[in-house]
Amino acid sequence: MSITLNRLRVAIVGSGPAGFYAAEALQKAAPGIAIDLIDRLPTPFGLVRGGVAPDHPKIKSVTRIFDRIASQPGFRFLGHVRVGQDVTVDELRARYHVLLLCHGADADRSLGIPGETLPGSHAATEFVAWYNGNPDHAAAHFDLTQREVAIVGIGNVAMDVARILAKPTSELAKTDLADHALQALAASQVQVIHLVARRGPVQAACTTPELRELGELEGVEVIVDPRDLELDPASAAELAAMDDRNPAKNLEVLREWAARPRTGAPRQMVLHFNASPVALTGTDRVEGMTLVHNRLEGDGRGGVRAVPTDETRTLPVGLVFRSVGYKGRALAGVPFDERKGVVPNVGGRVVDAPGSETPIPGLYVAGWIKRGPQGIIGTNKLCATDTVTQLLADVAAGAMPTIADEVLPIDTLLAERGVVVTSWADWQRLDQAEQARGAAAGRPRAKITAIDEMLTIVRA
Ligand code: NAP
Repeated sequence: MSITLNRLRVAIVGSGPAGFYAAEALQKAAPGIAIDLIDRLPTPFGLVRGGVAPDHPKIKSVTRIFDRIASQPGFRFLGHVRVGQDVTVDELRARYHVLLLCHGADADRSLGIPGETLPGSHAATEFVAWYNGNPDHAAAHFDLTQREVAIVGIGNVAMDVARILAKPTSELAKTDLADHALQALAASQVQVIHLVARRGPVQAACTTPELRELGELEGVEVIVDPRDLELDPASAAELAAMDDRNPAKNLEVLREWAARPRTGAPRQMVLHFNASPVALTGTDRVEGMTLVHNRLEGDGRGGVRAVPTDETRTLPVGLVFRSVGYKGRALAGVPFDERKGVVPNVGGRVVDAPGSETPIPGLYVAGWIKRGPQGIIGTNKLCATDTVTQLLADVAAGAMPTIADEVLPIDTLLAERGVVVTSWADWQRLDQAEQARGAAAGRPRAKITAIDEMLTIVRA
């Protein structure tokens, strides 16, 4: 007998925006539906807690919507449960009609250049997780005694990293930046931050408000070479054909900066366009980054590609952050498309292999693990709703797998394995503890960054 919507048991893996928006779409279709939202951390919210920059609190206020979703009947949060370690995908599929994967893309892309593994070379994603207090990265170390730093890539993550490195500590102290990061940044000796973009200003992946913020930082001057803003024919044609106004607005901001007189501010942010790193140099640690100058040409598909020339130069940097995008990770028991770094799917239905059209009954994806690491938080709402639409059609068509009655309940299984599961009420306790600690220091919250400490508070 096929299952009806109100008897469906759903597990969602990952409590970031995609997970919450998927839960919301299901709750709208079937109020009271049984949803277990599982996360590997004792705390919810994924990149809203661990990725969004601390000095962008408005973006974080989306958690109020997530709180409302969590308060609906039938909803449970199962925090501190590592899928793949504490419980397998097969064990979940034996207990839930639907397994909806929203675990995002938390790995980083590498540049594939010599010297990339030298000490002093880091993924920007690691730095972001560190300053946001993600327990997995709380012990990371970044050598902020270096005078010059390079960030490779010019997307919004690069903007965040550049801003956090450059912003006065007095400003950062008003945010929920992790205490360990605040202390390290207060002692920072970084003076020059190089932002390295392999293509030109028209192709810059960052959005204008984020770019503009760099030019508004106290004690920082932004340096742009006006020659970098002279558009090559391919970029001019690309810009003219675009509906998106963002590149034109970015160009306006950059032109205004290029025309600014030098101020001799204590910190400099130097933008380098048409430049790709080809090597990180140094013996025991990073001492420099060799850049090749690129020329731009049309790629024949309406886009513009960077072609290396013979011209090279070296930046004397001691710290490098590659900010060239996140990447999904394979999860045991789920097909994975290594090339794209996503779970292969058709409209959110997981298929048995990349390129296949054969869905695996009851298995779905939403968010970055479905479509790759692009878009803003709101993009996940549409993405998750699209997946849930397919899921609901499958329920209506009687295409859901059956689950056996005699299987050990998930709570018992986890308890037998000694997994300390945190509930929504536990999170609320942690949330209050963090806010109380923050208030004592005049900050919105002071994040707890050790899992042991979180569990101690929860147990108390
Ligand atoms: P992104 O927007 O995809 O930017 C990646 C950057 O890396 C691009 O400039 C790209 O250049 C460059 N790149 C890629 N491979 C490279 C290579 N081998 N060598 C040199 N450069 C390379 O990724 P992201 O910054 O990680 O951001 C991820 C998503 O999160 C984006 O959608 C972003 O908008 C979003 N986000 C939003 C906010 C916000 O709204 N405030 C904050 C953070 C993140 P090409 O263009 O030449 O490929």
